[in-house]
Amino acid sequence: MTFSINIDIKNIDMKSIHDTNPLDQEQIDFLMSIGYKYENAIKKDQGDYKKIFSKEKMEPKAINSAISLYPELAGEDLSKWTNGDFDLYIQQKNEELYSPTKEQEKELKRRGIVIEDAQYLLEYFYTYDNFLLQSNETLKDYLEKYYQFKISYVDELKSIETKNKEYFNNNDITIMVDPPIELQGTTYRYVEDFPNYQDDWFHVDSDTHVSSNKYWYGDSAANSFSLIYGSSTPIKYSNLWGTYSGSQNGAHEGIDFVGPDQHQLKSPVGGEVIYKADEYIVVYDTENFNYNFSFFFYHMSDVTVNQEGTLNIGDIMGRQSDIGNAKGSHLHFAVENGYDTTTTSAKDDHNLDSASPYIFW
Ligand SMILES: [Zn+2]
Repeated sequence: MTFSINIDIKNIDMKSIHDTNPLDQEQIDFLMSIGYKYENAIKKDQGDYKKIFSKEKMEPKAINSAISLYPELAGEDLSKWTNGDFDLYIQQKNEELYSPTKEQEKELKRRGIVIEDAQYLLEYFYTYDNFLLQSNETLKDYLEKYYQFKISYVDELKSIETKNKEYFNNNDITIMVDPPIELQGTTYRYVEDFPNYQDDWFHVDSDTHVSSNKYWYGDSAANSFSLIYGSSTPIKYSNLWGTYSGSQNGAHEGIDFVGPDQHQLKSPVGGEVIYKADEYIVVYDTENFNYNFSFFFYHMSDVTVNQEGTLNIGDIMGRQSDIGNAKGSHLHFAVENGYDTTTTSAKDDHNLDSASPYIFW
């Protein structure tokens, strides 16, 4: 029962809703790998799975990923950690990254903005200071859209659960798993504790919703961040590829990186500069990925590269800024298939048409 700025819509506890979701195939496979019979595994829901998975020790692949995401863990004996220990660690780190200062917290209270909503507003405005400059009317517009999305998601989920239960009762042990949750013609899944990020809805094509994929994608996103910003800059995102974006009224076709304003940015890829505007460049890969992709870097100031010039990995591109279609300082990083000088990033739909930026590093 928490509302921001007196918006008159019920708020929803996404975690409890998500817990009643059925399992996907990978999760069922995992339960069987630790001794569950098929007919018992398929009866579990996400809440059950979370409890079982969190008590299991981390696998070697998960340990490697954890160290790459949080280098300070290299000194720990992670073979003694359970998956639950690591999730707790991610939660704590995310809280550190995304918590307001005492001062900002006071201001949020005064304005009547609850903390969960404030964190959502970071997707649009990147910093607390930045969105606290906005009027209540402006913030209300964003939050109303957000509440509508939450409500339609929950409604869809409830109807799917009901259908599933019926199906299960009538067909003994044959149950539909991983059902599509259609929102305006597409499918999103709620993912909790994404490393260096927060809980959010991910487009089904992003694959992030599948069991432990969030770790591998978190790993990959962190690697590209480190290449661009330098490994000593704390990793922070405001929007990930494939999340629901209210400002784009659909899927977010890129990753928004939030480093310090005016931070110098280095190219993570080698290739030709096939397009250059005042605030962005497009680099066509000619070195690393078989001439298959074009890379977009948006909202920069001091762009130092020339059109038709070449870039090597580590060459300086410009600085993180808020130029162009941006409400605060960040880097929008996107990838398209093939040689492409136009991005799909502002397409205003739920098709995830850009290439996955998670597959490169
Ligand atoms: Zn973006």
